[in-house]
Amino acid sequence: MSYSTRDARRYYGVDAWGQGYFGVNGRGHLTVHPSRGSRRVDVHALIARLKRRKLRFPLLLRFPQILEDRVHELFDAFDSAIGEFHFDGAYRGVFPIKVNQNADVVASIVKAGRKRGIGLEAGSKAELAVALTHDLEDDAVIVCNGYKDEDYVRLALRGRQLGRKVFLIIEKPHEAEMIARVSKAMGINPLIGARTRLQARGSGMWERSSGAGAKFGLTTQELLDSLEILTSHGLADQFRLLHFHAGSQITEIRRIKSAVREGARIFATLRADGYPVEYLDVGGGLGVDYDGSNTSYEASMNYSVSEYANDVVYIVKEICDAENVPVPTLISESGRALTAYHAVLISEVGGQNQDENGDDIFVPVDAHDTVQELYEIWEGMGRKNHREFFHDAEAKREELLKHFDLGFLSLRDRALAERLMGRVRRMAVAFAKEERFVPEEFLDVEKQLVTKYIANFSVFQSLPDHWALDQLFPVLPVHRLDERPTVSATLCDVTCDSFGEIDEFVDLREKRTSLKLHALQPGKPYYIAVALLGAYQDVLGDYHNLFGRVDEAHVTVTKGGATRVVKALPGDDAHEVLALFGHQAESMVERVQERADALVAARKLTKAAAKQAVRGYAESLEGYTYLNFG
Ligand SMILES: *Cc1c(COP(=O)(O)O)cnc(C)c1O
Repeated sequence: MSYSTRDARRYYGVDAWGQGYFGVNGRGHLTVHPSRGSRRVDVHALIARLKRRKLRFPLLLRFPQILEDRVHELFDAFDSAIGEFHFDGAYRGVFPIKVNQNADVVASIVKAGRKRGIGLEAGSKAELAVALTHDLEDDAVIVCNGYKDEDYVRLALRGRQLGRKVFLIIEKPHEAEMIARVSKAMGINPLIGARTRLQARGSGMWERSSGAGAKFGLTTQELLDSLEILTSHGLADQFRLLHFHAGSQITEIRRIKSAVREGARIFATLRADGYPVEYLDVGGGLGVDYDGSNTSYEASMNYSVSEYANDVVYIVKEICDAENVPVPTLISESGRALTAYHAVLISEVGGQNQDENGDDIFVPVDAHDTVQELYEIWEGMGRKNHREFFHDAEAKREELLKHFDLGFLSLRDRALAERLMGRVRRMAVAFAKEERFVPEEFLDVEKQLVTKYIANFSVFQSLPDHWALDQLFPVLPVHRLDERPTVSATLCDVTCDSFGEIDEFVDLREKRTSLKLHALQPGKPYYIAVALLGAYQDVLGDYHNLFGRVDEAHVTVTKGGATRVVKALPGDDAHEVLALFGHQAESMVERVQERADALVAARKLTKAAAKQAVRGYAESLEGYTYLNFG
């Protein structure tokens, strides 16, 4: 049966999770469609171009036009909901900087959303410092979340001096006191908000962000206490914003609805009680459908951006109407949904760790008896006896181990036994899978038999949530998508950590524990893409094993359809990563020089060899932290 790019698109789920941003062309190459139209980037051709420009693997591709498209999709969704439900208020989305604090990412988002009134959300002083540099519209808001000290409050008030609508969000009642004190001392009127803790919980991996035990947000009593404090300082009029955040990646729309219902009711009640609160900030949580299944599964979401906007707008209006108060200006803090799609990691597979060449196994007559018996088991295995023979083989394996421990088995025989055992297991699993019911033991064996492809990247640097939270991301080959993939594989990274492996993959049902990839061809590179990494992943990296930031290319498509590389950024060289942890390149070279000098003095090394060694060492500190598979 022939295999087409249609089959590949279906198997890898490209149309499902790709949301129009990804495709496969007639040459079997992965394509990116930054504006979801016909203009597209052939990723395989792009890689060839970037290699000529000396960019190295792993390589992160950023598509700023995807960020723009996402911003417009979100604002369009709210604008159309506001029109449809005759909502008498505006939408002023803010981008939470922590989701991707790269300067170029923040700049692309602000540029796309500026005319539409986009603002920024900061969770720390440094993020606020970034927010204050952006040329936002006068009505755009800057929301300051997170725990605060006086410096944070002062910086926010400097923002007020600079004419920005900077809201200080009270996270703890003592912050109300502090805001009052600092703003009085500086003689600057603050804009104040409060983050309320909802009873409604989010869902999925991030549900700890809300509900009774959450880290952030004021309890109802604390909210009332804070308002009391503000009133006592004559600042009740400056309390303008109510905020809540029900968690990230909320997979079920009903969770969003119940959070918005609860938050909107608090807003309307405060307003009815006479507080001049005019903004309602519904936080983040808008999901990304990482597996494309459109379900309430962890890696997915069972609603669309427009359904989200419709529900927020409709519920807020309904509750404000019922309480007879004017509707608020709506703010949302969607980070994941804006940024996830724009970044794709490209890695090269350098080899595999499963000897799968089907060479004949020849067992010499002088091989150990147990090896001979294992060979006979393999030869004799058939559909009917596979389970029994498999158990016999496992027993032989135990026996062989004992023989080896006692010194009765040569390395040659041990090698033969290992190879035979591999064949036996493979064959047993193949027979087992022909049955209607596959016993658990064979499923376990099957997992162990999966080929491990070794790819040039670090899970800890480029997709840390896969390691920390078992989060799933789409993985697929960049090319050969018109060719049937025949090898069930997982992807090991180049760290020395056994958790450095992608061993779970998206699927429309459940998840996969291996992915079908193509057999490696000697001398030919094989490229893998990991998609949807633009939210949190490329900024959370932890330099495990001293693998650093990766090379980056920022890519756009012109109106005429040409692919442009607008920026190429080299990743960290070894000395940069080392310096982060207190290893200074200069003194490292000095110490190696001292060692070489000592050896020369002791006449154990020639001067020429010493010079060579020191130079070679120094050069290695200038190199990329990842491997070069050639
Ligand atoms: C992290 C965070 C966000 C971003 O949430 P997403 O789910 O990525 O949209 C928004 N608001 C607050 C307060 C956050 O901490």
